[in-house]
Parts: sequence; structure tokens; C-alpha cells
Amino acid sequence: MGIEADTPWHGLPDYEVLARLQADIGGLSGAEAAARLGVHGPNSLPVSRGVHPLRRFLAQFNSALIYFLLAAAAGATVLGHPIDAAVILAVVLVNAIVGFLQEGKAERALNAIRGLIAPHAHVLRDGHRQSLPVEGLVPGDIVLLEAGDRVPADVRILHARGLSIDEALLTGESVTSEKQEQAVAADASIGDRSNMGFSGTLIATGQAKAVVVKTGVHTEIGRISAMLQQVESVSTPLLRQIDRFARRFTWFVLAGSVLLFAFAVLARDFEWTEALIAVVALAVGVVPEGLPAVITITLAIGVQRMAARKAVIRKLPAVETLGATSVICTDKTGTLTRNEMTARHLHLPDHRLEVSGSGYAPLGSFAAIGHDDDAGALAAASGLIRCGLLCGDSLLHEQNSLWHVDGDPMEGALVALAMKAGLSPDHVRAEWPRIDTIPFDAAYRFMATLHRAPDGGALLLVKGAPEALLAMTGASADFWEPRIAEAASLGERVLGFAAKHLPVAPDRLAFTDLDRGIDFLGLVGFIDPPRDEAVAAIAECRAAGIAVKMITGDHKATALAIANQIGLADDPQVATGAEIDALSDEELIPFAAAVSVFARTSPEHKLRIVRALQARGAIVAMTGDGVNDAPSLKQADVGTAMGHKGTEAAKEAADMVLLDDNFASIVSAVHEGRTVHDNIRKVISWTIPTNGGETLAVVIAIAAGFTLPMTATQILWINLVLTVTLGLVLAFEPPEPGVMNRPPRKPDAGLLSPFLLWRVVIVSTLLAAAALGVFHWSLRNGEDLQTARTMVVNMLIVGETFYLFNVRYLHAQSITWRGVQGTPAVLAAIAAVVVAQLLFTYWPPMHDIFDTRPLSLADGALILAIGVGIMLLLEVEKHALRRLGWFDEVR
Ligand code: ATP
Repeated sequence: MGIEADTPWHGLPDYEVLARLQADIGGLSGAEAAARLGVHGPNSLPVSRGVHPLRRFLAQFNSALIYFLLAAAAGATVLGHPIDAAVILAVVLVNAIVGFLQEGKAERALNAIRGLIAPHAHVLRDGHRQSLPVEGLVPGDIVLLEAGDRVPADVRILHARGLSIDEALLTGESVTSEKQEQAVAADASIGDRSNMGFSGTLIATGQAKAVVVKTGVHTEIGRISAMLQQVESVSTPLLRQIDRFARRFTWFVLAGSVLLFAFAVLARDFEWTEALIAVVALAVGVVPEGLPAVITITLAIGVQRMAARKAVIRKLPAVETLGATSVICTDKTGTLTRNEMTARHLHLPDHRLEVSGSGYAPLGSFAAIGHDDDAGALAAASGLIRCGLLCGDSLLHEQNSLWHVDGDPMEGALVALAMKAGLSPDHVRAEWPRIDTIPFDAAYRFMATLHRAPDGGALLLVKGAPEALLAMTGASADFWEPRIAEAASLGERVLGFAAKHLPVAPDRLAFTDLDRGIDFLGLVGFIDPPRDEAVAAIAECRAAGIAVKMITGDHKATALAIANQIGLADDPQVATGAEIDALSDEELIPFAAAVSVFARTSPEHKLRIVRALQARGAIVAMTGDGVNDAPSLKQADVGTAMGHKGTEAAKEAADMVLLDDNFASIVSAVHEGRTVHDNIRKVISWTIPTNGGETLAVVIAIAAGFTLPMTATQILWINLVLTVTLGLVLAFEPPEPGVMNRPPRKPDAGLLSPFLLWRVVIVSTLLAAAALGVFHWSLRNGEDLQTARTMVVNMLIVGETFYLFNVRYLHAQSITWRGVQGTPAVLAAIAAVVVAQLLFTYWPPMHDIFDTRPLSLADGALILAIGVGIMLLLEVEKHALRRLGWFDEVR
């Protein structure tokens, strides 16, 4: 294909553009597109490569704590303690490796998920409208563009309707540019090429059909640069909070260590090198340096689990916020309902009909209601049925004897209706060719088309919300409103139809053409059954103390009927957009809290509703799909866009994208969000007392002036073993039973709740007491210092291991048999700890490195018994606290 790189596409008439691209207005064939993809390559920009692994690895060493450790290692070497120096270096290295691997894992998980919501484009291929990933576009493809989409490649516009594009990305111009299909001067600058759409720019209004002229790096945006993919950084408010805490804590520990060292040497006559090394080891031990990495991993696992349940997180903080969600605002069509429409009832001035059949299969018959002249009633409906077929853009096609819609499901149902009435869509469309269109817009809620009539005149057709059409046509509201209400109260979605004959055909359709002389033809009621999963998910929300609000563009009665079918609330209160308009922002606050169904709303109402709910401290998840939903999605705490129905603009504004557009997936994500939050708290409530117990034991020894219960290398060993084993497993914990049976957590509650602090104090004390207890007990029994110290190390590790089981169930009644069995992650980690401790205790080389001694069976049994004792004691404590009702978490 002879496409020259610098062809001035904007300067050529459209037929010339198509000819040069060897393209056809009906689209390319799949085979031709595949061949062109081979020549031109994918329509994507080279991804900027991330940070080099070596640099990421080195970055792990960049912290105050590590500098301090390296200095300590150097000091130890100089002072003639090469083993201590080597162990310190090993700790540094292992920490860096673990951090590096965890970070890499988190990043890979997030990248994989980004691929799930790669943008799609509507393309005509093999004569069908299809939704394809934009990478697959080739020059010559015919694309259909709509408000809210990003232009998928550089395109020449062939037909535009009310099209304007925000090109700030390319031109820096903040006003949107109006677009049209006529050729412009060949030397026009980018900003003046009003018949071109440029890759990456955002369609603000209207619709268009266009042909792709350039893809990938050949596009304007590709030429400017290959960036523009902002990768969200792996950070959240929580992580930053922890990071800040860890950094401050490090300095605090350093200062404390200096004081402790001075005290040990000056007041307690410790040998200064021994004291120095011990204090350094303690400082290393007490700082929870692994915590940020484990929390990142916990978040990343949450993101992966959510993706498996069809909720793709775009912004990491949403993982945390989801767990605190207290209100979910959801739209109706497609989210709570299946968005599989079937026309069921027809209401005409003199007849009513019921249509049989299901789905989009064009099989079914018409039965008159109230009399038995079915043929007469169908004849009376023919104008309305034809209007439904012509005034729409959707197509039906059959694949493996299943019928599918390309385009809007309600319009698809109208095509099926026409086919049931014996009309051939192709034939009717050819007989009444379309001249012009006013596309549907949720702002005015109708769509209009203009057709050339076989008699040389024209036919203007309108379909839309019945209220809008009654107002437009002046038809009798007294007559029609009861019929609308009747259909809507069945949960049917009701659409009105109107038409006007014109003696001569104009070549454009304007809003002023809709002013007078239009006849109201009648109504069609569509069924759109609720999703079964939505019913269960709503019940789950109610158990979890989460309010659900339906915010829909549909009719009040339809919305209410569906709300009742799915059990949205016991006695759902309904309000319309018009009622919201009548309220001030202040008045809306209690109103929004009380009402659970908002009907006939527009995107501006959504924004006001979110703000009103947030004013009362609610954490709001809000769904949206249109270009105008972006502000409310940004305002919401968890903006949620639809993966299928959603526009690119909505997805970009959202924190989360639902791959299946399903309400139940939001609830699954909340469930996972709560689990993530629980797991983070578990990680913290396990990690901090580990460090606390060791520290306390050594500080008590120094303060009381007796022999240190552990050497520096032993302290480092404990940290090393625990960091790489048990420290990680809590990130993988499955949800506790009953996560969705408690109210949402308070959004302002800090991570270090009173309960957590209590736990830290109690557990640190127990561990320190156990460690010092076995130390003195074995010394008193005549064991040597090395054996006593080996017991202390084992005691701390065993105590921590048993404590893990207490932490695994923060909420549940108590440890159950299943709980004790553990997850594979828990069991693997425990096996690793056991192996490490057996080596530490019984393998001769370890005796040289760590100055340990083998323990007798009785000593080992004692340690295990104390470990079990600590675990049981903490269970009793949990029961007692529950009785006392001191802390919210254990109630
Ligand atoms: P939800 O917000 O729950 O998805 P919705 O799909 O009904 O509800 P909109 O898409 O804003 O919300 O539609 C609002 C109303 O506009 C519909 O109830 C219907 O009366 C009318 N309408 C929707 N789609 C079309 C269309 N393609 N042509 C004409 N009228 C339409």
C-alpha cells in the first residue's frame, strides 16, 4: 500500500483519502487488517522502560538505618569482631534482597492489571461494529467515535455530528475544537485541521465516523514523544504514614541506643565493645525496616485478588479506601440489571399489545390486550415499530444461533421487535435512507433522525424519555401518564416515539425542526431483568452496614420497581433530579442520606449527591460511565467506572474499573478492601511486638546490670529468620469469616488503635518475661551461658510463632481447628523457621558463628510449652476483653 509518510490527509477530499488508503466506508476485512498490522506494526507507543533492576536493588541500601548498619559492620571489623561484622552484612543483604523482590512483585502485579483495562476502540471490520483493543488498529480502519472516547489513532473525519475535541494535549489550547468533515487547506497548522482527530485527544461532544490514517509512533503524539503513560507510583497515604513513622522511629532508636550505650558502659560497667555491638544489634532489631515492604505486598495482593473478582484498581489508595466504604451509589441499567433488553409491551392511542420472546432473538408474536384482533393491533403499531428500527444505530447479528447486539441494548431490542413484526432491517433502512441524526444525549434524553421517504419527502423520527417527547409533541399527558406509570411500575423501562412527515427533504436536521407538528406515536415498555448476583450483593451490603443508593437516568416508577425487586431498602424513598434542583446544598445533606433511589438524574446531580453524602462523613463509592460523570467520579472516594459501557474519560477519572459492569463486583472489592486493611493491621500487630520483646529483654538486662541474655549476632539472627519467613505470611491471609457482617471502619481511625497499642505492650512484656525467665531458669539449673542464650533465642522465635496464630484472628471468636491448620503460606513459613532453628541449635558450624549450644529434649519441650501457654493466655485475654467491651475491634 503506497501511503507516503507526509500525505496531507486533511487537504484531500474524503473519497481521495479512502482511495489512497485502499479503504472502504464499510470497513476493512479481518484478513486485510491482519496483513496491514504486519506491515505497520501495532498502534502503540514504545513503553518507557522502568528503572533498571540494578538501580532498584541499590536503592534498597539508601536509608539512614542501612548506613548506620554498614558503619556498625565497619566498626565491628576494626574492633576485631569479624563474625558480627559478617552477620550484620548478611542482614543488610538479605533485607535488601527481600525488599527488592517484594517491590518487583508488587510492581509486576500492578502492571499486569493495567493491561486489563487497555483502551478499546469501536471499529467496522467485516461489516460489523466491533470493540477492539486500540493496539490492533491499522491505517484504513473505519472507527466510530463518541463523546468520552480518546481518539485511538490519527484519523481523518468522514462524518461528524456535533463533534468537538479537546486537543489541549497537542496544542495546549484549552477550548475544545469543533470538528467537521470538509477538506481544509493543505498548509493548515495542526490546530486548524478541523477534519482530523489526533491520537490521545479526548472527544468532548458528539459522534463521528472516521478513517485511521496513521498509527503508533507515526501519529502526531508519537512524533512529539513516546511518553504520556503516567505510571501511578506505588504509594498510598497509609504507606506514606508508615514510611514517615519508620523514619522518625529510626532516629528515635538511634538516640535511645546512644543513651543506652552510655548508660551500660558508664553506670553498669559493661565492656564497651560488647555493649556497643549489643546496642547496635538492638537498634537493628527494633526498627521495623521490613514493614513498608510487607504493607506494599499486602496492598498488591489485595489488588490482585480484586482483579480476580473483576474490579481493577487504577489508583492504589482505593484499596485502602474501599475497606472503609460506607455508601455505594450505583446506576441501574447494566449494573444492577443485566442490560439485556426485550421489548415487552406496546402502548398505542387505541391499542395495547404484548410481545412474546426473550433476549434478542427475533422470534416472538404480538397479542392484543383487551380484544382479539391481533393483526389489526399490529397494523396500528407498524409506524411505531418502523420508527424504533430506523431511529437507532444498533445492529443485531447471529453467531452460533445466539443473537448479539452491536451498540445500545435498548436499540437492539427495537431491531428485534421490528424483525418479530416481519420487517427486514436492511430492507427498511435501504428504503428510508438516513439523511441526518441528532444523537442521544442524557442531557435532553432523546434521539432524532431524518430519513428520505420513498415519496420524495422526508420522515423525521424521534425516540426518547416519554416526558421529553410529551413536552415536544404536546400529546395529552392525562392520557399517557397513567400508561407510563403502569408500565414503569412493572419495572419496565419506558420509551416514547414520535414522527413527522415533511413534504420536502432538508439536508440537515436541527433542534428547531423538532419544535412543532410532531405526532406522538406511543410507548414501548422493555424488560431488563435484575442481575441475580446484584440481589445477593445488596443483601451483603446491608449486613455490612453499607448503604446502597440507586442513581439512574430512568423513570421514577421504573427505578422504584427495580429497587423493590432487588431489595435495595425496606421502604425505599424516591426522589427525582427535579426535586434535587429545588434544594440548596445544605438541604440536600439530610435529604441525600434519607433517599435511596434517585431517578431522572443528570451527571450534575451525581456530583451534588456525593458531596452531600460526604458532608456527613460518608466514604462514598460512585459508579459512572459517561464523559460527564468524570467530576463525580473524581469527587467520590472510590470513583468506579464501567469496563464495557464506560467511556475512556470516565475510566481515566475513576479509581477502579469494573470489568463486568456488575454491582456485585463493587461489593467483592469492598470485601477484599476490608481484608487488606485487616491484614495490614495483623502485619503491624505481629511485627512490632517481635521487636518489642527482644528490646525489652535486653533493656531490662542492661538496666538491672546482669549478663545480656543474647549476643548481638543472635539478635540479628532472630530478625533475619523472622523477616524472611513469618513476617511475610500475614500479607496472604484469607478474609476472616464475618468481614462483611460488621459495620465499615471509621475512616479517621488511625492504624495504631488503642487495641493495637495494648497488644504491643502486653505481647512484648510476655515475650520478654518468657525470654528472661528461661534464661535465669537454665543458669540456675547450672547450664552455661551459651546454652541459656540458645534457649532465649529459641524462646523468642517460638513465642512469636505461636503468637502468629492469635494475630491471624483479630475478629473471629477464637482460634478454630481450621485456623490452627493455617494456610499454605503459614505452614511453609513455619517449616522454614523450624529448619532454621534446628540448624541454629544443632548444626556445629552455627555453634561457631553464633556461639550456640545444642539443647536437650526437655529444654525444647519447655520452650514449646511456654509458647503454647502464651498463645492460650492471649486467647483468654481476647475473651476477657470482649466481655469487658474495652475495644471495638474485639467486640
Ligand atoms: P442508568 O443511569 O441507571 O444507566 P439509564 O441508562 O436509564 O440509567 P440514561 O442512559 O441517562 O440512563 O437514559 C435516560 C433516559 O433516556 C432513559 O430512561 C430513556 O428514556 C432515554 N434513552 C436512553 N437511551 C436512549 C436512546 N438511545 N435513544 C433515545 N432515548 C434514550
